[in-house]
Amino acid sequence: MSIYADHAATTRMCDAALKAYTRTAAEFFGNASSLHSAGQRAQEVLTDCRKRIAGILNCDPREIYFTSGGSESDNQAILSAAYAGAKKGKKKLISTAIEHHAVLHTLKKLEREGFEVVLLPVGEDGIVETSDVEAAIDDGTALVSVMLANNEIGTIQPVEEIGALCKRKGVLFHTDAVQAVGHIPVDIAKIGCDYLALSAHKFCGPKGVGVLYAKKGAPLSSLIEGGAQERGKRAGTEDLPAICAMTVALEASVADMDATSKLLRGLQDKLIAGLSEIEHCALNGDRVRRLPGNTSFCFEGIEGESLLLLLDEAGIEASSGSACTSGSLDPSHVLLAIGRVHDVAHGSLRLTLGAENTEADVEHIIRSVKEVVSYLRGMSPVWRDLQEGKRQFIL
Ligand SMILES: *Cc1c(COP(=O)(O)O)cnc(C)c1O
Repeated sequence: MSIYADHAATTRMCDAALKAYTRTAAEFFGNASSLHSAGQRAQEVLTDCRKRIAGILNCDPREIYFTSGGSESDNQAILSAAYAGAKKGKKKLISTAIEHHAVLHTLKKLEREGFEVVLLPVGEDGIVETSDVEAAIDDGTALVSVMLANNEIGTIQPVEEIGALCKRKGVLFHTDAVQAVGHIPVDIAKIGCDYLALSAHKFCGPKGVGVLYAKKGAPLSSLIEGGAQERGKRAGTEDLPAICAMTVALEASVADMDATSKLLRGLQDKLIAGLSEIEHCALNGDRVRRLPGNTSFCFEGIEGESLLLLLDEAGIEASSGSACTSGSLDPSHVLLAIGRVHDVAHGSLRLTLGAENTEADVEHIIRSVKEVVSYLRGMSPVWRDLQEGKRQFIL
């Protein structure tokens, strides 16, 4: 059995969610928009799920829109706010350099359409300054979008401060809370955001389902035209089994949150301490203000992809935390944003643990990473140059 340490990419569905999924698919197959009894039974389940999710997030059920996941929710929130702003002559969009591509690529598209996009920098700690957000806001600002927690380095952003600021300035505020919901407390009333995105598969629910919270009165246009589902804001027959499973998974993760984060903090401490013993490496992101499951490191003189392949052979499933998958060799925009230079950013490793991971897993991970790093450095011309003083160590 391999050790799964890539929970920020996706999680295994929990038993309760799987059960809810199959039971709902079997018993509530009706179309929630149908007027007959089977449809109405499905409608009741849908209404119940909406209420339960709103209860957990602390908002009104009418502010919950079911979507296909984090990407769709981010797209819909940002496009809605931007186009509504443009109608009033507000074409400035403020975000950060470390957002998920679902946010960054949506902003890029809007930039091509003539919007002004400002991506604020973050510090070496991977956290954006509220004062920078404040300085960027002007009369032409349509939206501020700052993620709650980063998917690569796990850093937690000051969204309550930013929410209060945006409220004071009368600017719409969206937060991508995909990595946070189910892992750390998320209270919409406290954040004071106008939009929030979440995705079920990041907290042991199914893939392909999520929520867009849109505050009552906030501009909301649909991405998908068709039927009148989701109060006319998201056409398409609701995926009731997935919505039900998401609801159950969210309830389970919130119920277990204190215990899980205590466990994960312990494993994280151990992992960070163990990996820090490797020479010329550094933790990415703030040591404290980070998700309990996230440990991200850069190792000098290492190629992240080779590290991942060899760890996989050693039975450890991890990630570089960067989007090198599409064959592009660009290092992660998040690691560059916290000041890692190209070479160092390439030697990254993201280990994201979940409730099923154990101390023994962490010990095996530390041992294996030490072995693999030392093996790869032994073959690396870059490492030899560093050793011989032909290149300067950065870490
Ligand atoms: C996973 C993720 C998304 C995308 O969610 P999907 O449901 O996979 O579309 C968006 N933002 C963040 C921060 C994520 O981690």
